[in-house]
Amino acid sequence: MSTASGSPQLNLIGLPRTELEAYFAELGEKPFRARQLMRWLYERGEVDWAAMSDLSLTLREQLAGAVSLSIPVIDNRQDSVDGTVKWSLDVGKGQNVEMVFIPEDGRGTLCVSSQVGCAMDCPFCATGRQGFNRNLGAAEIVGQVLLATRELGMAEGRSRITNVVFMGMGEPLANFREVTRACDVLTDDFGFGLSRRRVTVSTSGLVPQIDKLATVSNVALAISLHAAHDELRDELVPINRKHPISELLAACWDYAAATNSKQITFEYIMLDGVNDARTDAEALVPLLRGRPAKVNLIPFNPVAGTPYGRTPRSRVDAFRKVLMDAGILTVTRRPRGDDIDAACGQLAGNLDNKVRVPLSEKTMHTVNRA
Ligand code: SAH
Ligand code: SF4
Repeated sequence: MSTASGSPQLNLIGLPRTELEAYFAELGEKPFRARQLMRWLYERGEVDWAAMSDLSLTLREQLAGAVSLSIPVIDNRQDSVDGTVKWSLDVGKGQNVEMVFIPEDGRGTLCVSSQVGCAMDCPFCATGRQGFNRNLGAAEIVGQVLLATRELGMAEGRSRITNVVFMGMGEPLANFREVTRACDVLTDDFGFGLSRRRVTVSTSGLVPQIDKLATVSNVALAISLHAAHDELRDELVPINRKHPISELLAACWDYAAATNSKQITFEYIMLDGVNDARTDAEALVPLLRGRPAKVNLIPFNPVAGTPYGRTPRSRVDAFRKVLMDAGILTVTRRPRGDDIDAACGQLAGNLDNKVRVPLSEKTMHTVNRA
């Protein structure tokens, strides 16, 4: 597994408990050693063998020589006036990803990245504009939660992170294996112990992977819908050309049934004059009414160089009213952390593009700090 330090050793961070237990079994150790280690890592955020006093010195020395506990390195932190915090993380080879903590009444949401960049090419998204470099490993995903836990400290003896959402950089279902392994650790009682409803995977609509997710996990699912017609969605969310709305929604209802989920969240960015007319809201109604669906209206966060603008509040309210009147639970998301470019879709760490984005586009997205 490659890490920020470039270490080729097996990295024990992010290993699901069954794999960690198997590793300890190979060493001739009892399975509870794996649980002890997980407590140090995920409850206390400790990655220094020397501090793990309930593991014998001999075992610790053996482990320190054979495996690593590697996580990304924080190279920048910005605090918004509204309490939102954004970190830029060094994931090696001069590349960065970003994660964001959003405190709200009674909860704290950590928005994590799953890839360095994204290949899905949604035209309104800063990450999409950058192109794709590589998938993050489970250690780098779990490492984000571990780092944020340490950075934020405890509140009344508890982690301030109550929810984790895969809404940072990247398309999580395009990195299926590592994301689901990370979800395993996030929801494990000996990992971060989050309930499955508090871990949300947001996808632009990779249908086969949604089907597969239902067979290995039951975390909450959010879909970036953004349009009620295929013609418009083909443009806004290009993966729609491969998996159109009808196919996507069928997969959603199957997922909800298979995982016994109360609802799927549908994210809908309000783009001024593009997808925000009353007729757009009316077209959504037959798709979602009577289904286990909740709509999240997202004010567009400006990304330099894109042709889109933010829908005025009055039109967002009118759009919401159409859906609410049809009995579809709809909330308008409050933009957070705009002053530090930490809002949805504004995340863009440094990366060395592997997938080509036209030069004219490349120059306009710049959170590059190199
Ligand atoms: N790739 C996944 C998850 C990361 S994007 C996905 O697309 O679902 C997380 C959310 O931010 C998505 O709903 C995405 O559509 C939204 N988003 C992207 N760019 C945005 C922008 N400029 N303003 C507001 N939301 C944006
Ligand atoms: Fe990728 Fe999501 Fe951005 Fe689309 S919105 S480019 S899927 S990160």
